[in-house]
Amino acid sequence: MDCMTSAVDPHADLRAEVAKLCARFPGEYWRELDAARGYPTDFVRALTEAGYLAALIPEEYGGAGLGLSAAAAILEEIQRQGCNGAACHAQMYIMGTILRHGSAAQKAAYLPAIASGALRLQAFGVTEPTSGTDTTALRTTARREGDRYIVNGQKIWTSRAEHSDLMLLLARTTPREQVAKKTEGLSTFIVDMRQALGKGLTIRPIRTMMNHNSCEVFFDNMEVPAENLVGEEGKGFRYVLDGMNAERLLIAAECIGDAKWFIEKAVAYAKERVLFGRPIGQNQGVQFPIARAYAQMRAAEAIVQKGLEKFERGERPGEEANMGKMLAAEASWAAAEACVQTHGGFGFAEEYDVERKFRETRLYQVAPISTNLVLSYLGEHVLGMPRSY
Ligand SMILES: Cc1cc2nc3c(=O)[nH]c(=O)nc-3n(C[C@H](O)[C@H](O)[C@H](O)COP(=O)(O)OP(=O)(O)OC[C@H]3O[C@@H](n4cnc5c(N)ncnc54)[C@H](O)[C@@H]3O)c2cc1C
Repeated sequence: MDCMTSAVDPHADLRAEVAKLCARFPGEYWRELDAARGYPTDFVRALTEAGYLAALIPEEYGGAGLGLSAAAAILEEIQRQGCNGAACHAQMYIMGTILRHGSAAQKAAYLPAIASGALRLQAFGVTEPTSGTDTTALRTTARREGDRYIVNGQKIWTSRAEHSDLMLLLARTTPREQVAKKTEGLSTFIVDMRQALGKGLTIRPIRTMMNHNSCEVFFDNMEVPAENLVGEEGKGFRYVLDGMNAERLLIAAECIGDAKWFIEKAVAYAKERVLFGRPIGQNQGVQFPIARAYAQMRAAEAIVQKGLEKFERGERPGEEANMGKMLAAEASWAAAEACVQTHGGFGFAEEYDVERKFRETRLYQVAPISTNLVLSYLGEHVLGMPRSY
């Protein structure tokens, strides 16, 4: 056991198994994909076959029926081993909307197929170019016509859209002017992208600073069968909100995994690199940023742990999920920064993987929710100050 591992970790065996799987996908694998902006199909298949992506799907639908803390352990371990769970993490939690709010027929049709890997539910279409964080101002509309909805509009940053069979889509079904609250009138749909592609659905990848397979998605009179509406029309925003605590806790776990990877890598290099006749890690100027990042990571981990426990008790961990996500993203960034600095010039060399992970971990201060919005949540909902937007 080392300082990164808890003595009383109920998921120690699970982590060890995930680590074993990850060892089959070393740095070279991720470097090649990064250069080509390729999708880690083999890695995602391996995770699917091992049942990890179905961790949260109940056993009656063919999943592992594990709690959120197990899913967090899986994602944390993936990141800690230097892999990238962003290629598939959404498959774990998007299905929660179908599980919680879908009809019996939808659950029977989709959940077992998602659990087995026969269907990929990786894409979550919420963000739009003009509305961004202001989700309820989104402009994509879904208009009911008989037994179908006609969808028009655009999404942006729809990650993995090219590598998913289904998309969970949030669209406006009642104009904003006609609803009492702007959060009403939005609905959630399961879009079968295999059927819609070329028939009103266009997907265009966006090249980003890291390999994330994110896309722009355009809807031009795209038809969605009415039976693919999840839950009640007009309540979609609430359904999406219901999944956000889980999403934030899982992303926070990934950041903690990243922080551990950076810290371990930095410590190892600080001990082995000898200059002026001694390891660079003997200098406190090198030690302290790494030690500080470690302290930040541990603090974030404790909050995330508390959030996971609350979630598993059936409580709403809004405060912990938001704080945990923000603190974990900041800790992973501090660790990334310390790791690059410790490596000097080699921190910029691709073969060390530090620069790749550095680029990858930066995202989590912006997505799935940016730091300012977390602070707004805390200011308003936890501290009771006036709403700012
Ligand atoms: C690589 C990547 C993958 C993503 N994947 C997905 C996905 O799969 N599905 C999906 O739906 N979305 C996805 N997103 C979108 C992501 O959730 C948004 O980028 C994020 O929510 C911020 O929205 P925005 O980019 O429109 O920024 P904006 O909303 O335009 O905000 C810009 C800046 O202004 C700040 N700001 C805005 N309003 C306020 C305010 N009231 N007070 C203080 N500060 C404010 C924000 O904090 C931010 O720093 C992804 C984004 C990226 C970059």
